[in-house]
Amino acid sequence: MTETCGICRLHQDPLNRERYEISRSELWLVRHHPDPAPLPGWLLLDSVRHCAGPIEFEPPEAASWGRAVQDASQLVQQITGCDRVYAIAFGEGARHLHLHLIPRFAEDPETSAWLVADHYRAVQGGQRAAAEPTQVQTMVELARRFS
Ligand SMILES: [Zn+2]
Repeated sequence: MTETCGICRLHQDPLNRERYEISRSELWLVRHHPDPAPLPGWLLLDSVRHCAGPIEFEPPEAASWGRAVQDASQLVQQITGCDRVYAIAFGEGARHLHLHLIPRFAEDPETSAWLVADHYRAVQGGQRAAAEPTQVQTMVELARRFS
């Protein structure tokens, strides 16, 4: 836990946990993107430990990362019915691993490849509609049932 880290604070915050957290193990935490969410079913896979990313993994994290990514990616597909799942991690907003797992629908040209980054910024900037908070809650409840 690092006091200044936004991800560490989210992991501790009871309201955020109640609203968005889907599952938590010793090493990994799966949650929905908080509102305003760029898409319903946009999940995040976080390391529980404050860690910048795979380059800083401890051996147990390195050993279980592949399965954690696969499970969380399959969960995105299960709850959304999407065609594919993008996995993106920059770690600039917070130097704490949070892998974005993004539902990709073949029929949605606005979220193809790097356009999904433009979509993300447009939603965060208020130029494009976010996912309805009720849709987000439905996704969270569905994902909890599958987890
Ligand atoms: Zn942190």
